[in-house]
Amino acid sequence: MSFLKRSVLALRTLLWVVLVSLGVFVVASTAGVLLERDRILTAAHDEAHNTVANNLGAVGVALWSYDKVALSALLEGMVRGGSMTRFEVRDDQDVVADVRRPGTADNADRVWSVPILAQSGGKQIGVLRVFESYGEVDKRIADAVTTLVAAELVKVIGLAFIIFVIVYRQIARHLHHLAEDVQALAPKDLETRISLDRRHRHRDELDTLVESINRFLHDRAEEMKKRSRAESSLRESMTEMQVVLGALSDGVIALDGECRVRYANAAARALLGMLSEPVEGQGMEDILAIVSERSGREIEGLCARILEDGTPMHLRGDVRIRTRDGSEFDAKISAVPAPGSGDVAMILVFTDISAEISKERQIEFQAFHDPLTELGNRSMLARDLGQDIERASREGGRIAILSLDLDNFKNINDALGHTVGDILLKQLAHRLRATVKAPGWVTRHGGDEFIVVLPQCADINQAIDLARALMASIAQPFFIEEHELRITSSIGICLYPEHGVSIGELISKADMAMYEAKREGRNAYRFYELNLLQRSAERLAMENGLRVALAENQFHLVFQPKVTIAGEEVHSLEALLRWQKRPGETISPADFIPVAEDTGLIIEIGDWVLRESLAAARRLRETLGRDLAIAVNVSPIQFRSSERLMNTLRELAAEEPDLHRLLEIELTESALGGKVDEVTAKLDSIKSLGLKIAIDDFGTGYSSLAYLKNFPIDILKIDQAFIRGLHTNAQDKAIVGSVVQLGKSLGFEIVAEGVEEEAHVAILAGLGCDYAQGYWFSRPLPEGDLAAKLREIEAHAPG
Ligand code: C2E
Ligand code: CA
Ligand code: CA
Repeated sequence: MSFLKRSVLALRTLLWVVLVSLGVFVVASTAGVLLERDRILTAAHDEAHNTVANNLGAVGVALWSYDKVALSALLEGMVRGGSMTRFEVRDDQDVVADVRRPGTADNADRVWSVPILAQSGGKQIGVLRVFESYGEVDKRIADAVTTLVAAELVKVIGLAFIIFVIVYRQIARHLHHLAEDVQALAPKDLETRISLDRRHRHRDELDTLVESINRFLHDRAEEMKKRSRAESSLRESMTEMQVVLGALSDGVIALDGECRVRYANAAARALLGMLSEPVEGQGMEDILAIVSERSGREIEGLCARILEDGTPMHLRGDVRIRTRDGSEFDAKISAVPAPGSGDVAMILVFTDISAEISKERQIEFQAFHDPLTELGNRSMLARDLGQDIERASREGGRIAILSLDLDNFKNINDALGHTVGDILLKQLAHRLRATVKAPGWVTRHGGDEFIVVLPQCADINQAIDLARALMASIAQPFFIEEHELRITSSIGICLYPEHGVSIGELISKADMAMYEAKREGRNAYRFYELNLLQRSAERLAMENGLRVALAENQFHLVFQPKVTIAGEEVHSLEALLRWQKRPGETISPADFIPVAEDTGLIIEIGDWVLRESLAAARRLRETLGRDLAIAVNVSPIQFRSSERLMNTLRELAAEEPDLHRLLEIELTESALGGKVDEVTAKLDSIKSLGLKIAIDDFGTGYSSLAYLKNFPIDILKIDQAFIRGLHTNAQDKAIVGSVVQLGKSLGFEIVAEGVEEEAHVAILAGLGCDYAQGYWFSRPLPEGDLAAKLREIEAHAPG
């Protein structure tokens, strides 16, 4: 019976079969017994009636005859069988007979009476009371029921047992094994399958169930295999990635959406000095700070900003990373948002580029510094003064430029040698640096010349104080080897924007003031003034001379042809000013133009040149029978007082409708200094009269072609300095070649100045230059000689 304990299902089936069949049996047999009893009793009663009916006549006779003995015998005979257990006969007064079956109880289950009639005449003579008792019947029925119940019970239990055995063998046993097998499956067991332990005949639901379980197991196994393959390949690629990231020398940090570290590779931890402690889970700003090198201030909220914007950020130059222990390094940083990568929201990659940066700084340092004193050099001046000027023009600030020159340095160099000279310069540089406080700065310009710039100079006094401090510091004795050396210095000071707006102008004015200081006895500073130069007697004389020259018509013009290189035709002329002070004494414009500019007389003189040039051009039109434009040199001073210049030009335009065919304007680069839009407006008003504008002496200033392109300029005149060496100096040829090429590509006409040799012409033709001007074709000539010269030039023209 052990299987009963194991198969709950079978046991339960057994119990149910027993209970249900018992129940059915009890109900059915009870009903059967009751009906049977009723039938038997009815039969017994009917039998009693029959017996009584059959014997009633005899009973009537015996009573009528009052034969008690016969009556009793008759009744005794009747009472012996069936259900009748007692008879009582009464006449109309007494009980005549009372017969009962021996051994029966007095009480009866049923009593009924029958009238006894007389034989003749039908008159009632008495009553027969019949007592029926069913005890006997019931006893019989009970015996029958007992047998029946016993037999039924045996049947029910037997049937139940058979059903149980069938259910157990056919179903429960297998289900039980299936359950045990499924239960016994290990979670990691992917191979075992369930089977039924029975001989196969026809497929049934159990087979289907087993198949379904096995299919499920198979699918589960496949699923698990797939998952474990995926897991292991994920693990592999994770390890691979960590190996790769670990091998990188760049620091890599993965951050989550709250800017907390999810992962940091070895390089990152090493760079941050956190090799031995966990960084995962820490906030980015707890483990590093990104600092601007220039301001020294921390750049805050970078991570949040990038996450918000969703755009990558790359920082290099001017950024440093400060670690938690306070140390810093120059860094290149890339911060890239990583949307859709699970918990990682941003990748931060950073590299220590201190070595690279310091090399860059070194290279930059070399390019912009004097190797001996480590002060800035000319290039730094060009770069930084340019920036200072730009800022000052934006902000309306003032800049002081101090030109400093040692008074007796040459003597020291000559007497004690260059080594001592170099040591002195180094010590001097140290003193200069100590005296000029930031934002002021110092550059060295050659042997013993220095420029000091004060970019934020409140007023003249600040510059003068600095000059005094510099002189005092330089005047202190220098101790070099066994020598005690004393030197003095001369300083010239000028101011932006009062004295000039371009670098060249400012430096030349500061130099001028410095020379003035030297002239006045050295060991002094001089402030540049407009009338500074007037102080020198020579200049004073020249200024007066110029006034006289204007009044007495001592000026005249000479003209130099500009020739087309391709065809050697005279294309136009340049007017050059001459001052004939006395007969036989001609003064060069190179000498008197600066004086005229300093005194402002150039405005008057320039006006005369313009009018005279137009007059000459109109006369030449008559004599030559063609229009030849005359280019007029316009001084920056003249250009700056543009109202006067424009008035004159407009007057001339009113006089001569073809003005644009007869006049051109030449300007030097220094005229273009100042605010770009103001300069452009002035140039535009010249251009509005149709006049062409040329840039003179191109290449000597600080402007580039790209810069000039901002202005409405037509012609570039390459300075003589580059043409002179054209046939001997490869570098000059390369420079001229590229100016021609680039200049033409930007739409300029190109003129070469100072063409003195046939070789120049050939080379310029090869380089594609448009026009040439110079002694090779013609010296500047008086108007009267031009016609013949033009014929001569054009007669020699090739072809
Ligand atoms: P610039 O405008 O560059 O004039 C060209 C100068 O080069 C002229 O000197 C000319 O004589 C000289 N030159 C021409 N061809 C050759 C050559 O093949 N070889 C050499 N070595 N030199 C040559 P110049 O006439 O002495 O004038 C000097 C400067 O004076 C001019 O240079 C210009 O800046 C200025 N100047 C002349 N006339 C005027 C004027 O009317 N107004 C103004 N503001 N400045 C003028
Ligand atoms: Ca010129
Ligand atoms: Ca020139």
